[in-house]
Amino acid sequence: MKRLAVISGKGGTGKTMVTAALAHLLQGHLVIADCDVDAANLALLLNPRPLWTKPFFGMQAAAIDPDLCLGCGACETNCRFEAIRPDGGIFRVDTLHCEGCAVCRLVCPAEAVNMQPRQTGMICYSETDRGHLVHARLVPGAGNSGLLVSAVKKTALENDPKSDLLLIDGPPGTGCPLISTISGVDLVLVVTEPSISGLHDLERVVAVCRQFRPGVLVAINRFDLSPTIARMIHLWCRDQQIPLIGEIPFDPKVIETVRQGVPITRAVDSPALGAVQEMAVRLEEHLDSCASVTG
Ligand code: SF4
Ligand code: SF4
Repeated sequence: MKRLAVISGKGGTGKTMVTAALAHLLQGHLVIADCDVDAANLALLLNPRPLWTKPFFGMQAAAIDPDLCLGCGACETNCRFEAIRPDGGIFRVDTLHCEGCAVCRLVCPAEAVNMQPRQTGMICYSETDRGHLVHARLVPGAGNSGLLVSAVKKTALENDPKSDLLLIDGPPGTGCPLISTISGVDLVLVVTEPSISGLHDLERVVAVCRQFRPGVLVAINRFDLSPTIARMIHLWCRDQQIPLIGEIPFDPKVIETVRQGVPITRAVDSPALGAVQEMAVRLEEHLDSCASVTG
């Protein structure tokens, strides 16, 4: 099974629109994973039919047994995250602030602190017209989304091992969720936009990708909004020997289809769709020629 991640370096570039279109344009049997777990929007465009969900326990949180607590305050003093508060002569943990470091358990003289699993998200497995979709819902305020990304990928690979392609909608940024997304993928498609911040974030995200050695491809969305910066991105890609496989024009049909909750592949007379279709053909060629990490 080949593995392709669509990422962006920054939010708002149209990455999810591109991923939803690719889900309909790429050949073969797909399994799709939405690894943008902080803002999982791919399901809004793929109209999935839910099959099952399961809770995700990403980290532990401290809990104080009120019957054992002596009220000494050592846990509050040593908690660097200000997650412990006095409460009527004893102390309690505010789980929203607890980072699960277990220092409070170490310093407690009464063994009143237990570390307990904390549900930080939900993994959802659904059916779409183009294969199974795995996405997740992160509990608001919960951290460790990199772990949840890993769990989403693992769920997709374990449940659909015979698929030809794992298509991943990746997270924006260059942090832990991105690293979790791109580790073990064959190809990364970076969707950028013609702005100075777009170019800057492209440089940053490519630098991170190079640590993990997948093949890197670039597409510019709404390239015609700034031909000058689009040209700068062209030159940068050429210098870096990164194939620029798509230039998608600004097209009101994109906004229209997103509003309707359908992929751009449903649009008629859409210049953006034409560009994405051409890009999908080039992408297929790159997928065919790259060696799968899984052999
Ligand atoms: S360190 Fe232990 S005994 Fe002291 S306040 Fe905290 S939980 Fe209670
Ligand atoms: S586990 Fe760490 S962060 Fe959580 S309450 Fe204890 S000391 Fe604070």
